[in-house]
Amino acid sequence: MFGNMDRRRRVPRTDAVLADSRLVEAGGRLGRSVVKAAVAAAQERARQGEIAPEEVADAAVKALPARAASLRPVVNATGVLIHTNLGRAPLSAAAVEAMTAAAGSADVEFDLATGARSRRGRGTLAALASAVPMAQDVHVVNNNAAALVLVATALAAGREIVISRGELVEIGDGFRIPDLLASTGARLREVGTTNRTSVRDYADAVGPATGFVLKVHPSNFRIEGFTGSAEVPELTGLGVPVVVDIGSGLLAREPLLPAEPDATTMIEAGADLVTASGDKLLGGPQAGLLLGRCDLVERCRRHPLARALRVDKLTLAALEATLRGPVPPVRRALHADPAVLERRATALAGRLARAGIDALGVPSEAAVGGGGAPGVLLPSAAVSLPERFAVPLRTGDPPVVGRIEGAQLLLDLRAVPPERDDDVARAVLAVAEVVG
Ligand SMILES: *Cc1c(COP(=O)(O)O)cnc(C)c1O
Repeated sequence: MFGNMDRRRRVPRTDAVLADSRLVEAGGRLGRSVVKAAVAAAQERARQGEIAPEEVADAAVKALPARAASLRPVVNATGVLIHTNLGRAPLSAAAVEAMTAAAGSADVEFDLATGARSRRGRGTLAALASAVPMAQDVHVVNNNAAALVLVATALAAGREIVISRGELVEIGDGFRIPDLLASTGARLREVGTTNRTSVRDYADAVGPATGFVLKVHPSNFRIEGFTGSAEVPELTGLGVPVVVDIGSGLLAREPLLPAEPDATTMIEAGADLVTASGDKLLGGPQAGLLLGRCDLVERCRRHPLARALRVDKLTLAALEATLRGPVPPVRRALHADPAVLERRATALAGRLARAGIDALGVPSEAAVGGGGAPGVLLPSAAVSLPERFAVPLRTGDPPVVGRIEGAQLLLDLRAVPPERDDDVARAVLAVAEVVG
């Protein structure tokens, strides 16, 4: 074999490796610095004797990332439909296509017919307005937290927001709605108790300093037992605006989730403004929806803060396609027929078992997740595998993320689009080659 010095001398020079046609092509696609880093790493491996000097170009090509950005697409087999750690709602193909079309120069504030400037987001706002005809006006911001900040700033800065103690919700990752509201300079006037708040409690607190009454849907927990809260119709007679944060983004009633509030029903019940997320049960991109009385929406839209919270063209495109286009994946998963899920799990497990893998189709229970519909379990079906498959599947390509139950790895199929079953099978077969 070669000595250390000799090996180092034979490692090809950077410019020679970079001239490899595959790496030239990759430089155009991923950027030169990414390619250079892969080459440098491969050269170092050759210096250490891990690979032969003539293998440097091949090793660099193999080590290149698939994309210029580090986020990787994942198969969500957790059984949690809206998984916050996995990017909440997956977009429909129509929304993805709309985003791609908008990604370059696009007529976001330009009327191609007249050549004049036009209203930003007009198509998206029209789609949202027609999805909720009860709303006099609509507006879209970055997320629901931004919608709440905008409403609090525009309608209650230096004044009071009256809110039930039972609705002082932490939305996740340590962020709390009361802190968010207080950060705007509005004062929170807490009424009632954790488990019970009456109209009387609100009425006693409302006065000249009141900006609005806020109802927050406790979307990620449930209180049971001796409870009571004042509902929207009872609060409309207090002489101040009633703002309802519904969270999930349901625009109309969803029979499968009777306890989840929706924008149409809330406005019918007398809510003056409704705020919601775009990337939960609506199934679209991260966005905050504001729907309701035109004077209040207009005050929010005209507030200087609105400029800091405005959405980009990609969000506008994806949201419009979600509202007007085919049923998005979250809704498809929500409405998936349990019998079909069972057939898919049986077929998938059968295919794996025939390859000698210890796989079984089993009944499972899925959840809405993403801080929505707490306590609602959706009948589902899963492929059960030995637990040792979990890590290699999660770190494979594509990563398949399931959930551990007992000593088994369950790949729940409710949140997996049916057209991905084949990818799941191939990922498991590839892992089986390694872990047996
Ligand atoms: C999820 C949620 C929020 C936060 O919404 P984002 O879109 O994540 O900012 C606020 N309020 C309620 C009730 C929620 O469920």
